[in-house]
Amino acid sequence: MTHIIVNQDLCTRCSICAKVCSSGIIDSADEAHLPQTQEANVARCLYCGHCEAFCPSQALLLNLPDEKVPLLAGASTVSPEDMELYLKKRRSVRHFTREPVPKEKILEVLDIARYAASGGNGQPVHWLVVQDPKKSGKLPSSLSNGWRIC
Ligand code: SF4
Ligand code: SF4
Repeated sequence: MTHIIVNQDLCTRCSICAKVCSSGIIDSADEAHLPQTQEANVARCLYCGHCEAFCPSQALLLNLPDEKVPLLAGASTVSPEDMELYLKKRRSVRHFTREPVPKEKILEVLDIARYAASGGNGQPVHWLVVQDPKKSGKLPSSLSNGWRIC
């Protein structure tokens, strides 16, 4: 599977996509070559979408695995009014039910959380999800204090 798809008619060979790739897996473009990723490096892709988002010519499309949702699809459809409402209604939730959260849902949420800004898109945060309340109660207080999912 081609990892990135570059439209040769739109690509200006600026190599911005290569410069912004935090995994350093996009080979720069030149007169004779479009930017590309070597097959051996594809596994290092974070699927952060930087290459696609930063392309000034909209020439690059990230070829996502089937289970991934396109990052930019519908991005321009949020109206200013909706955005204002989302921002004003944001709250920190501190009261929870005891109903277990399905593992798939937790993984989905964590996949979204990894898009939070991090230096150089290094994504240095690691998550420990403990679903068994008995086990989560045994975590060291430094870990469990404020970090518990049960
Ligand atoms: S950023 Fe876009 S235009 Fe520039 S080299 Fe990459 S694909 Fe081509
Ligand atoms: S999605 Fe991110 S890590 Fe993957 S090639 Fe694009 S910029 Fe690099």
